[in-house]
Amino acid sequence: VTGPLVIVGAGLAAVRVVSTCRDLGYTGPITVVGEEAELPYDRPPLSKGMLLGEGSGEEIRLATESDWQAWDVELLLGQPAVSLDPGARRVRLDDGTELGYERLVVATGAAPVELAAFADLDRVVYLRDLEDSLRLREALAERPRLGIVGGGFIGLEIAAAATELGCPVTVIEAAAEPLGPILGEELGGVIRAWHEEHGVEFLLGAPVASASGPGRVERIETAAGAGIDVDLAVVGVGARPNVGWLADSGLELHRGLSCDPRGRSSDPNVFGVGDAACRHFGEECVPSGHWTGAGEQARVVAATIVGEPTEPAPVDGYFWSDQYGKRMQFRGRVPAGAELHLLDGSYAERRFAVRCASAGEPCGLLSLDSPREFIRGSIELRRAALAPGVR
Ligand SMILES: Cc1cc2nc3c(=O)[nH]c(=O)nc-3n(C[C@H](O)[C@H](O)[C@H](O)COP(=O)(O)OP(=O)(O)OC[C@H]3O[C@@H](n4cnc5c(N)ncnc54)[C@H](O)[C@@H]3O)c2cc1C
Repeated sequence: VTGPLVIVGAGLAAVRVVSTCRDLGYTGPITVVGEEAELPYDRPPLSKGMLLGEGSGEEIRLATESDWQAWDVELLLGQPAVSLDPGARRVRLDDGTELGYERLVVATGAAPVELAAFADLDRVVYLRDLEDSLRLREALAERPRLGIVGGGFIGLEIAAAATELGCPVTVIEAAAEPLGPILGEELGGVIRAWHEEHGVEFLLGAPVASASGPGRVERIETAAGAGIDVDLAVVGVGARPNVGWLADSGLELHRGLSCDPRGRSSDPNVFGVGDAACRHFGEECVPSGHWTGAGEQARVVAATIVGEPTEPAPVDGYFWSDQYGKRMQFRGRVPAGAELHLLDGSYAERRFAVRCASAGEPCGLLSLDSPREFIRGSIELRRAALAPGVR
């Protein structure tokens, strides 16, 4: 392709698509449209170092001004796209501007799922962007009693940062253990014990029923009748892909923009990448949701656009998370009844690598502060996944 490439969304995936296209020799015009007025930045620090006071936001930029100049990209920031006409190959922005394209990439990421119980209450934070993070950091400086709804990795990272800052923290989680839906109950329990050691309290198996003010959130009640008094609430119960602006486009939407394994949507000129997209491998639908996957998919989409042969990005659910100065890494899956085998360290010393197997075949890997064993285990996992009949 030589015609205009338009990328909607200006986050990690967009930056990777741009850099890879230029690296692979694409010389046509590129426009990046972003809803946020900020130059694209990295999100993982928002729930980690930023909350602990590390930096102001400048240091998490994904590319410098001179990178953007060298890539010769027209950046249209602070302007959301509002609709797409794939037949006419035009995307419309909220100020009425229309952009024509030869290829379009949807890289609009995801937004936090909101809970009705917290509508209209103050001192409730959903963490997705830099502004949210700076606001949360400011609020944590007052050492509030913090209620975190959702024991996923973002909720737990905030719990870790807030306890380090001296805030009393309670995590309210609908599942039986934090991270339970991903890691299973046994490993979720290991992670919970580590947080409890740092003073975090948990209400588990406890979907939120209501939150009361008036005005500021003051109390959170669970469906089981338990309740906690809070000065601040953070809600981290998952994200939904930002594809509302595609509702009338006629493109196939599922858990995001439906794409094939190389990121091509139901329209051959439109691609999806990162948190906004899901990829379909036969019957299986795989949303991204994590940093590494978004970057890998972006490289595949860029290569496909410029016509370079490429393999689809791996489907392994890899994520990392930093809590209490330690790195957790996970890849694969932990089906019900999986056997766990410790490869390194021990749960008690909070340094371990554990392999999960199903019917004798490795299927998942979790490590805490054990990066080398994680690499070794990943090689074994990949070998198992390549064996016939194992996915
Ligand atoms: C607080 C936080 C911590 C995280 N920590 C980790 C971690 O430790 N490990 C890990 O693996 N993953 C982590 N993630 C996930 C990871 O950051 C995401 O998977 C990654 O950012 C996805 O990149 P993306 O480009 O698809 O989306 P995003 O980074 O969300 O970028 C999408 C951009 O598109 C813009 N946009 C939305 N709608 C429109 C529109 N209509 N028009 C124009 N622009 C639009 C958005 O404003 C946004 O700037 C974290 C995410 C968050 C929020």
